[in-house]
Amino acid sequence: MTQGYLSEAFVSFQGEGLDVGRRHLFLRFAGCPLRCRYCDTPESLVRTPEFEVHGGEEKRQSNPVSLDSLLESVRSLLALGAVDGTSLTGGEPLVQAQFITELLRESVVPRPVLLETSGTLPERLAEVIDAVDKVSMDLKLPSNTGEPEYWQVHEEFLRIAAGRVYVKILVDEQTDLAEVVRAGRLVAEVAPSTPVYLQPITSSAGRVAISPVALEAAYAALRARTSDVRVLPQTHRFLAIR
Ligand code: SF4
Repeated sequence: MTQGYLSEAFVSFQGEGLDVGRRHLFLRFAGCPLRCRYCDTPESLVRTPEFEVHGGEEKRQSNPVSLDSLLESVRSLLALGAVDGTSLTGGEPLVQAQFITELLRESVVPRPVLLETSGTLPERLAEVIDAVDKVSMDLKLPSNTGEPEYWQVHEEFLRIAAGRVYVKILVDEQTDLAEVVRAGRLVAEVAPSTPVYLQPITSSAGRVAISPVALEAAYAALRARTSDVRVLPQTHRFLAIR
């Protein structure tokens, strides 16, 4: 049996995407191969000797954590009140695909299970796709992330996730509109019925980093290519919740 590296575990409201507003159990996995310029969870980028379980009594657990120990913490969080699903988030959860597969064999984890991912590890997604209910996939635009292009791996990823995926595209004032166009084209060609969330990058103080004019331009560039486009900032920032 494998062990996992977590960054934190807690219950809160989902702040982004298709499940916005739903009460979720969040399991944040530690470690990510990317370093996006706008990353809002820098504490999850590397593995640490411990992670926090927030809720009721704050508790620290050791990394790597066994499946049984993690399930014990999950049970204690679920005992605090009703939960309507689970978000597997990060960091990049797919780095630990085998541990996730074992975790989701257990009926303890509330369904539906949403996998939140950078969309850059298609082989790992193939390992877990049958075990998750929904996938939140980022399309990483180099002008925002400061990372290399991922168009090819994004295409492979989207093909595997099609039918249970929605896409998130983060935008701010620096976003290259040509990259938004390319993202819209990719969705239209590979999985045209996929909902696309245009997500203004939002500061921890709840301020969005894009003007109305630039947001309209990004929306129009996407909507000209794919039919289901929605604009939604990170709502948990406005609520000042985790
Ligand atoms: S993929 Fe996500 S966790 Fe990793 S650096 Fe980018 S924003 Fe942060």
